[in-house]
Amino acid sequence: MKRIVIFGECMVELRAQDDDSMAKSFAGDTYNTAVYFKRCLPESSVSYLTAIGADFLSDELLFKMGEHEINTDFVFRSTTQNLGLYMIRNDNQGERTFAYWRAQSAATQTLNLMSSTDFQCDWFYFSGISVAILDDEQREKLFLLIEDLKAKGCQIAFDPNYRPRLWKNKEEAQYWTSKGYAVSDLAFPGADDHLTLFSHTNADEIFDYLADKHIGEIVMKNGAIGVHILRENEQCIVPVERVTNVVDTTAAGDAFNGGYLAARLADKKPVESASYGAKVAATVITYPGAIISSDAFESHIPSL
Ligand code: ADP
Repeated sequence: MKRIVIFGECMVELRAQDDDSMAKSFAGDTYNTAVYFKRCLPESSVSYLTAIGADFLSDELLFKMGEHEINTDFVFRSTTQNLGLYMIRNDNQGERTFAYWRAQSAATQTLNLMSSTDFQCDWFYFSGISVAILDDEQREKLFLLIEDLKAKGCQIAFDPNYRPRLWKNKEEAQYWTSKGYAVSDLAFPGADDHLTLFSHTNADEIFDYLADKHIGEIVMKNGAIGVHILRENEQCIVPVERVTNVVDTTAAGDAFNGGYLAARLADKKPVESASYGAKVAATVITYPGAIISSDAFESHIPSL
């Protein structure tokens, strides 16, 4: 059985229903990937590495992870900090506005709260957001943990997922994103992220930038335009069928990554894995919210 550990922050999501009511759920980029990965490859072992609080919402999240069959052995508890929270409002044109309360969340202390960093897994997945929420000392600890895992044969997957407001400035984000790439065996750059963070305007510029990072497999996402894969010096483009009835693009990239990684771990080839990941993403964006129901998921996504 393949074992993957996914590190990051899951928050409470409050979505405005009307002027007076909110629907509550739990989401976060790496958490979304963990949920979709597990749905695509149920026979795998998926552990989520994070920290939560001692509040009732943290208990609810833990219960939710159990429902998703995500292993919680690496969920640590803070006695002083709670879960982060974000709120989404959709205006009449379907445009979304986000407000976040996450600066003091328990997840920002994960590396300080970890009782032991001595574990083994086949894959370790993290994102630029996982790094951004940590202070510099914990960022160094994270990269030491990753080096240790690599030495034990674990492979590393990384999505830069650039969120400007989580970083002090662009230079800081560039520095840590490049470190994330440099330890990766599989990377998921997004066209939008690279445009904002590095001013890269096309796949070649992204691949040129990544050339000295020695990443075995690079899977570049570019919305409905298609997926570019660079592996063993061979580049290919996998077309994506454009979804016309998009309801909510939240978690498109996270769902893609979960599907792609699950397919690769099920020994599918990169091109087939990209088509599978794109199908997962295309399904997720036709439903509201980051995590769609398992019924909706299963009615569209064939098992691997
Ligand atoms: P991110 O969410 O990381 O910015 P993208 O916007 O590139 O990532 O979307 C991730 C994946 O979601 C794409 O690779 C594609 O497979 C799928 N996707 C996004 N938008 C559409 C769309 N309009 N139609 C079909 N697939 C889409």
